[in-house]
Amino acid sequence: MKYLSTDFYESFKCIGGACPFTCCAGNWTIPIDKETKKEYDSVDGEFGQILRENILSDNDSSFCFRLTEDGRCSFLSSENLCRIYQELGPEKLCYTCQIYPRIVFQRGDILFRTLTLSCPEVSRMLLNKTEPISFGFAEVPSDEDDKLSIDWDWFNTLVSCFVFSVKLIQNRNYTLSARLRVLLMFTFTIQTLLKDNKDIAPLLEAFSNQDYLDGQLSSLEHLSSNVPAMFSAFLYFYQRTGASVHHFILHSSANLMEEFIHSNDKEKHLTGIVESFHLLLSTTYDIQYEHFCVSFLLRNYFEAYKNKKPFEEVAKLVYALLIARGYALSFCSMGKGISTENQISLFSLISRLLEHDDKNLTIIKTYFEKNGQTDIGFLLALV
Ligand code: SF4
Repeated sequence: MKYLSTDFYESFKCIGGACPFTCCAGNWTIPIDKETKKEYDSVDGEFGQILRENILSDNDSSFCFRLTEDGRCSFLSSENLCRIYQELGPEKLCYTCQIYPRIVFQRGDILFRTLTLSCPEVSRMLLNKTEPISFGFAEVPSDEDDKLSIDWDWFNTLVSCFVFSVKLIQNRNYTLSARLRVLLMFTFTIQTLLKDNKDIAPLLEAFSNQDYLDGQLSSLEHLSSNVPAMFSAFLYFYQRTGASVHHFILHSSANLMEEFIHSNDKEKHLTGIVESFHLLLSTTYDIQYEHFCVSFLLRNYFEAYKNKKPFEEVAKLVYALLIARGYALSFCSMGKGISTENQISLFSLISRLLEHDDKNLTIIKTYFEKNGQTDIGFLLALV
């Protein structure tokens, strides 16, 4: 088995009660694995009774903790401490609670290990990091490897495409917009070749040539971004997403979105919004959004192993970035950008929104589909 871990995977430490945004109050489902459920079933006394009363089940095979009306786990005390941890000890926490915010998943013969940005402490680590995210690689011989049923040609090609894509996104000689445009072009061409059952090795070789790649990056560097289209899409998304997000946004000091929605003079507000959007697209935030992109690619790129549609995964990244920048607008005013502190909270919130519920990315995808705006030319102008 091979292990690929992000450099920040090992260094994470939960800040517990000091966390501003505890994961146990995220208004999301906390699934309980079957083994833990079985153990909880055998806990005696009053606490055993409380445990069982606060576990919900859709059917007999999936279980989760009951949430309070304000989206907190029933076992989270008013001091933000876990009652299961206090009563039964850390070893009795379910798999989700033991592992969070670590994410471990297998693709092919590689076990990927990273952290989710939905934990604000992880977002803090990442946003305070100026150097590119790096990866540690290890290989441990295992008998299990022989039992894997994998399309090795395709999997190894996809790994090469992934490695190229990450290096491209981290190529700081060019703006992040240029890097994303080349990534869109690259994956679009791969997907087209795959659809036609053609070999993608020559394409990978061409893009691996530094002069060719520099030519592509330079030619796409100065393309304009279609900010009005980005804002319209974000507005659509904003008006259809959950109250928990708006609750956070409404408490921000510069609530641009709400002012815009309720304004009688939308044109006037739009000028400021377009300016702020351009600011968020400027190189000032390239490092922060580069980390966001690399984390997203790591989580999603290998979905293409199943459907051979890597372009769709990169298009999702473009939509996720648009949402991240759209929410950041609320924190920009009078030509000022978003502070790192607000960006940390925002990254965490957006990750909760996108990683833990597929339907949110689908909202924006559907918007573009309905408007016939999904072709490569249109997407190039969304970054
Ligand atoms: S969100 Fe992160 S830092 Fe906060 S309590 Fe959960 S694991 Fe700890």
